[in-house]
Amino acid sequence: MLIGVPKEIKNHEYRVGLVPFAVRELTHNGHRVVVETNAGAGIGISDDDYRAAGAEILGDAKSIFDKADMIVKVKEPQPQECAMLRDGQVLFTYLHLAPDLKQTEGLIKSGAIAIAYETVTSPRGGLPLLAPMSEVAGRMAPQAGAHCLEKAQGGRGVLLGGVPGVPPGKVLVIGGGVSGMNAARIALGMGAEVTILERNLDRIAQLDDMFRGTGLRTLYSTVDAIERAIQEADLVIGAVLVPGAAAPKLINREMLKTMPDGSVVVDIAIDQGGCLETSRPTTHADPTFVEEGVVHYCVANMPGAVARTSTFALNNATLPFTLALANKGYRVALAQDPHLRQGLNVAAGKVTYKAVSEAHGLDF
Ligand code: NAD
Repeated sequence: MLIGVPKEIKNHEYRVGLVPFAVRELTHNGHRVVVETNAGAGIGISDDDYRAAGAEILGDAKSIFDKADMIVKVKEPQPQECAMLRDGQVLFTYLHLAPDLKQTEGLIKSGAIAIAYETVTSPRGGLPLLAPMSEVAGRMAPQAGAHCLEKAQGGRGVLLGGVPGVPPGKVLVIGGGVSGMNAARIALGMGAEVTILERNLDRIAQLDDMFRGTGLRTLYSTVDAIERAIQEADLVIGAVLVPGAAAPKLINREMLKTMPDGSVVVDIAIDQGGCLETSRPTTHADPTFVEEGVVHYCVANMPGAVARTSTFALNNATLPFTLALANKGYRVALAQDPHLRQGLNVAAGKVTYKAVSEAHGLDF
């Protein structure tokens, strides 16, 4: 199969669909890979690195789209990319079609076979191609929060690790899933006093087991528990997810007013609307704003800031599926793997994913 990797064109997107180790696996399996020139330049991967892994470098996106049987990307195709897709061509990337009618129509019109990373499932439950980005965002959250706690950033001037004779900062993580657990791990590593609020009792038991001896506290998440805990916290990390729904608003403005001036909220769940009434999406260029004296960090694409780490983490997760699609062809690969089949969102002019058809009132 001929696999194509265009350079990402979305604003400030430096990640890339395939890194050289993935190219090497594909060429080792007898496939050809064409990569657009400078596709990895933003994260320190040169055209020569790709050539050394067996890829051919092409000068523009159109040549990639024209030649490839399968396009592997990171972000959803932009309108000019949708226009270059063709009948029967496979597209493997993040799509997030439910809130995006224009893109959905573009993919329907193209006739392509569009497989979304974010809806591929795993036999253990969960979303294996979303998890690496939650790991990244979770691990970044205490780092971003610690920076925001500095006076010059509007914070209350607290060092999360404390120093001998001065107590550490208090971190409250709401939601103990993939991102919350990773946030807690890093905050503990920084020496902070960490509490996780979680709704799922099985998950609380798991966290308690995993973090035994580290000082992590777990609490069952109720309005009461949240109300009390935020009054004490220097840094609150919002990491909740209710699958398929907007994030629940767990902290309203009245509750926010009870938090200390200069305390910080990192709302990771902002891509699902955020878990505070006062949250609104921000960008890496202007990541924070202050409401009721509390610094809000609400960047909707946190992994973009560490694009190199994120790209390698994403490739680790996508490679087995990319290989299956290339080795077996999409029909057999999807028929043999019901979890990969869950990724199929649009095929040959039809929406094939229920939530997307419902979101747009389109035939399923
Ligand atoms: P996850 O499903 O692994 O974990 C979410 C957890 O929240 C679950 O354990 C669930 O039980 C818990 N929860 C639900 N309601 C709760 C409540 N009321 N109180 C306490 N806990 C509650 O999800 P995840 O992978 O960690 O993702 C969390 C959010 O982060 C998602 O919205 C995801 O899209 C987002 N995310 C954002 C970025 C970013 O750049 N901002 C990057 C990656 C992921």
